Amino acid sequence: MEGLSLRRAIISDIHANLVALEATLADIREQGVDSIYCLGDVIGYGPQPRECLEHCRAFDLNLLGNHEEAVLFEPIGFNARAKSAVEWTKEQLSLPEHPREENSELWNLVGAMESSHVEEGVLYVHGSPRDPTREYVFVSDIRNPEKLADIFAAQDQMTSFAGHTHTAGVFTVDCEFLHPSQIGNRYQVGEKKVLINVGSVGQPRDGDPRASYVIFDGETVEFHRVKYDIEEAIRRFRETPLPEELALRLIEGR
Ligand code: ZN
Repeated sequence: MEGLSLRRAIISDIHANLVALEATLADIREQGVDSIYCLGDVIGYGPQPRECLEHCRAFDLNLLGNHEEAVLFEPIGFNARAKSAVEWTKEQLSLPEHPREENSELWNLVGAMESSHVEEGVLYVHGSPRDPTREYVFVSDIRNPEKLADIFAAQDQMTSFAGHTHTAGVFTVDCEFLHPSQIGNRYQVGEKKVLINVGSVGQPRDGDPRASYVIFDGETVEFHRVKYDIEEAIRRFRETPLPEELALRLIEGR
């Protein structure tokens, strides 16, 4: 029996919130995991994109999020506030006071991110199986069965993991959304097609301000939340010209 159950932490949407990321990684270390997969949006919105990208080097998978896509190419579908954060983030990754090689290593890391990954019959994306980088699968989509049917039709695997909406939970092919609190923070995969949203480390929007991540052992998904020093995170925002609102939303997790 032993040797079969690898424990993998899956994180997403760090959004340059280093305080949240460090608290999350400390919690993950205590859980005895074998690998860490990151589903994208390491950068964007938050004050410490360089430091967060440095942590990515140690991860076992880094997928491309729409915010990485936006700094590499063009910000598509971004509002004015998000766009200004994209511009500021781009500047941060090219700061002239850092050695040129250091800057280009960060850009290479972002440029090397793939948009999806399949392993042992499990799909990993940032957005959705149909549009791995940009499509949002919202909780309200359970009232849009055609959309969910198309998304699940694009998913060849029984199980997929995504981020992007910053809302943790399980979407099933039967148009249900299971909030982690409804299922005791655990879900056993394999019975039906599911899309599992791992939530967000650095900018939760599901009303719980704590950082979110999951651990997956190939059979069971455990949902975890981690308290972190939000006051300190807000202080770091205030050292930048980033809009105050991006910092204050962390307090309520909205
Ligand atoms: Zn995001």
